[in-house]
Amino acid sequence: MSDTSIDRDPVIQAIGLRKSYGTLEVLKGMNLTLARGEVVALIGPSGSGKSTLIRCLNMMEQPTAGTIRFRGKEIGRKFRDAGDKIGIGTLRRNVGMVFQHFNLFPHKTVLENVTEGPIVVCKTPRAEAEEQAKELLAQVGLQDKHGAFPNHLSGGQKQRVAIARALAMKPEVLLLDEVTSALDPELVGEVLTVIRRLAQDGMTMAIVTHEMAFAADVSDRVMFLDQGSIAAQGSAEEIIRNPDNERLASFVSRFN
Ligand code: ADP
Ligand code: MG
Repeated sequence: MSDTSIDRDPVIQAIGLRKSYGTLEVLKGMNLTLARGEVVALIGPSGSGKSTLIRCLNMMEQPTAGTIRFRGKEIGRKFRDAGDKIGIGTLRRNVGMVFQHFNLFPHKTVLENVTEGPIVVCKTPRAEAEEQAKELLAQVGLQDKHGAFPNHLSGGQKQRVAIARALAMKPEVLLLDEVTSALDPELVGEVLTVIRRLAQDGMTMAIVTHEMAFAADVSDRVMFLDQGSIAAQGSAEEIIRNPDNERLASFVSRFN
């Protein structure tokens, strides 16, 4: 399958990526490149391998075969950063993830949730981390929630904290896995607005979503995953608005 962004400053790449759980082959050899500033929407039926793909991209899952590259360097669990190789610590500091279920620290305030990574992982001085966190919380519209605990927030607010927390690490790429799927419908919009703004600001992102209108609107490229393979990819026009294969058309129409 052609991958048009391959020459354009790739940030993260999967090459011949395979993943099996026992005898179940979940990813059947995938090639994916996210170029700097590019937004790719990943769509596809439940169980098609979307979460596994993005979990492999930041090595939360160990691929069964194939290579993940970050800024052109091969990533390995046992690698140190040297030459053309990079370890997973460096990868994870640079790749932000946001999940469906927020995964905030329940006993920490909003501000503490956002400062935790910079302070613990990056050794950023607390005052500096807090200043930065306050800016990020203002960006996601939560400047008045610094002292709140996660269980006092709405789902939409929690997810915006989770996004601010990911951004606090100054990631080069953000991987979003169905970040609005657990939200009440009236809270989806406020989270999509934040993501849309990040896209406009040039953040490199892979976004797993069932929000077809949003995917079409925000992405430079759409990939349709089906049974562990990339079954179709192209512009939003080709994949979402005018799908030319039946399985894809039937999938897309269910979410419109
Ligand atoms: P999607 O995100 O597209 O819904 P997933 O990547 O979560 O799909 O899952 C793809 C397939 O892999 C599914 O059949 C799922 O049951 C299976 N799977 C995912 N994680 C595991 C795991 N840790 N152990 C065994 N099977 C798994
Ligand atoms: Mg999933």
